[in-house]
Amino acid sequence: MIVYFLGTGGSEGIPAHLCTCPTCEEARKFGFAQRKPSTLAIITKNNKAVLIDVGTDIRDLLHVPLEAILLTHWHHDHIYGLYKLRWTARKTKLYAPREHADQLIITDPKNIEVHFIRAGDELILDSLRVTALRLNHQIETLGYLIEEDDKAIALLYDTKNLSQKTLKMLKEKKLRLAIMDATYAPGVNDPYHNNVDESAQMGIKIAERVLLSHISHKNLPFLQLAEYVRQKYDGKVLVAYDGMIFYV
Ligand SMILES: [Zn+2]
Ligand SMILES: [Zn+2]
Ligand SMILES: [Zn+2]
Repeated sequence: MIVYFLGTGGSEGIPAHLCTCPTCEEARKFGFAQRKPSTLAIITKNNKAVLIDVGTDIRDLLHVPLEAILLTHWHHDHIYGLYKLRWTARKTKLYAPREHADQLIITDPKNIEVHFIRAGDELILDSLRVTALRLNHQIETLGYLIEEDDKAIALLYDTKNLSQKTLKMLKEKKLRLAIMDATYAPGVNDPYHNNVDESAQMGIKIAERVLLSHISHKNLPFLQLAEYVRQKYDGKVLVAYDGMIFYV
């Protein structure tokens, strides 16, 4: 499978409108440091696409039929693009947790067919076996374990830490890749999101490679962050960016 990062930012995107912090100023200089809100696609070995969250308008980036859309949760930064995408010409299934479901999408879904799922549920989507995982966030939020043949990855945002049970289960899966919530800079303690070190250290316990995503403008500027994790984690931890693809 290929993991395609369409959006790797938090709610505000980087640069945030009119913000003059070092992270936003850097992103005005270097295009690669700009981030749209969280949006990710998995391209299966049969070239089918599954979309996870729709934080942004995907029409110019992924103009293919979708096997399904999975939502991690209904916070706005993960569903903005859905308001437009529901006009898709092809009927598309959307799987999501029930809590805080968006009223507009529910009452006027157009070509989106909403199905509610909960932690522990399994889905078969083309060649993928997807298991929903419980995360620790402000509202009901699902992470996803995604397996294809003998390869496994996990998408783990938005969350603060992971339960011991989830960590143990993921460890046994010998993940090739863990995609982690690294909203905040090292040292920041937030009840609903990890900082860079919390995320990297948890990721290393469960996966060969760790990709930090869901990065806020309150985090370090891109180049500084990339250097920080390179020095501290010996190449096992990478910083995701919009447009990045990762072969698994
Ligand atoms: Zn978020
Ligand atoms: Zn900023
Ligand atoms: Zn959230």
